[in-house]
Amino acid sequence: MKVAVIGGGWAGLSAAVSLAEAGHSVTLYEMAPQLGGRARSVPGEPVCDNGQHILIGAYVETLALMRRVGVDVEAALLRTPLHLPYPGEPGLRLPGGQPLVSFTRGVLANSQWPLSARLALLVRAGRWLLQGFKAPADQTVAALAAGLPPVLARDLVEPLCVAALNTPAHQASAQVFLRVLRDALFSGPGSADLLLPRQPLSDLLPAPAERWLLARGATVRAGARVHALARHHAAWMVDGEAADAVVLACSAREAARLTADIAPAWSAEAAAFEYQPIVTVTLQSPGSRLEAPMVALREGPDAPAQFVFDHGQLGLAPGRFAFVVSGAATWVARGDVAERVRDQALAALPWAEPPVIERVLIEKRATFACTPGLRRPPAAIAPGLVAAGDYVAGPYPATLEGAVRAGRAASRLVASASVMQNRSP
Ligand SMILES: Cc1cc2nc3c(=O)[nH]c(=O)nc-3n(C[C@H](O)[C@H](O)[C@H](O)COP(=O)(O)OP(=O)(O)OC[C@H]3O[C@@H](n4cnc5c(N)ncnc54)[C@H](O)[C@@H]3O)c2cc1C
Repeated sequence: MKVAVIGGGWAGLSAAVSLAEAGHSVTLYEMAPQLGGRARSVPGEPVCDNGQHILIGAYVETLALMRRVGVDVEAALLRTPLHLPYPGEPGLRLPGGQPLVSFTRGVLANSQWPLSARLALLVRAGRWLLQGFKAPADQTVAALAAGLPPVLARDLVEPLCVAALNTPAHQASAQVFLRVLRDALFSGPGSADLLLPRQPLSDLLPAPAERWLLARGATVRAGARVHALARHHAAWMVDGEAADAVVLACSAREAARLTADIAPAWSAEAAAFEYQPIVTVTLQSPGSRLEAPMVALREGPDAPAQFVFDHGQLGLAPGRFAFVVSGAATWVARGDVAERVRDQALAALPWAEPPVIERVLIEKRATFACTPGLRRPPAAIAPGLVAAGDYVAGPYPATLEGAVRAGRAASRLVASASVMQNRSP
């Protein structure tokens, strides 16, 4: 079949690679000059990413896709067992091995938490395990963690929640949080490992995937925004060009616009998301080095960032530090996030030279707000028209893995439609 993929983010790339692999003729339309969507490098000197990203060992489909397009995953990502140090405090460190044993040993060994708190966490995690990591659809993460010692909410639940769901614990869905926790902490050896990019984001997937697609005869149209989508007899018309099937892998907002007349109910659902920003503030301090490549920070009324990454230790740029503020709606509204991050950095960490602000990236619609009971539109929109994207109905919050899985699922739906077409008389 001739398949149009609209949107060249990680979902669109995942769909395009799967479709090309299955022998379909793929045309990929991307509005921006380069592929990668929200997870790409932005032009500039030195090269900088459109926001610091981390992956975890449980991102099996993302890692498989990277390998399929020729990325040397071991070289591209620094893999370490889960370690959440705070400045001057060793923090939680999970040793390798069988997940349950590793989690228990890691929690018991964290002497920063009183023994009563460590035991309370193990009891609570055991209860979640016995309940199959399920929570009521309307429960928040704050409600899920109610009754746990405050130190655990502050140093574990809240930072993990905002990092994974980009939504503060008092607004975030307990159901999605537990699903992430299950896959990350208890789904197999290495699933909780942190994988930190040692290369610019565009080299992790977008650029190799583009080369891979071109080598297999696919057409890649960067800088091509699709304005209109319409049904014409058995074909779909993408800005007047015919395709047998379409994978809509653009943002939810653009997908809603393009389907407003084709599938109004689906379109309304895609248009209804609320979003949470992520701010990445890059500071320069030549000669400085953190105690680990990734250090957790304590958020507070004047301290926005939850994590900082040392780009020198990641082999990207010595003396460059990326501070991440997730769930950043209130900080974006305040307007002084970069200055507050610099002050937080000065107060919390030792520096060889006082850090200076190099770059501030504010992604206002970084991800949808992952709230309890959130309705997400399904992948199937109309015959031969399928959505892919981190927002499409699924168990994951808005992540690279969610996007890649959605892309692959969309390609399977397209393939099953082609089987149906071939069977019809
Ligand atoms: C700052 C930041 C930090 C993040 N950190 C992490 C992290 O640490 N770990 C993690 O797993 N996830 C993280 N995420 C989330 C992750 O980046 C996204 O979930 C993922 O990139 C979404 O991919 P996507 O393909 O679904 O959507 P997108 O990346 O949004 O791709 C959609 C593409 O469609 C294109 N497009 C839109 N309209 C049209 C049109 N009409 N015609 C043609 N093209 C169109 C867009 O230009 C875009 O390239 C982060 C996101 C941000 C913004």
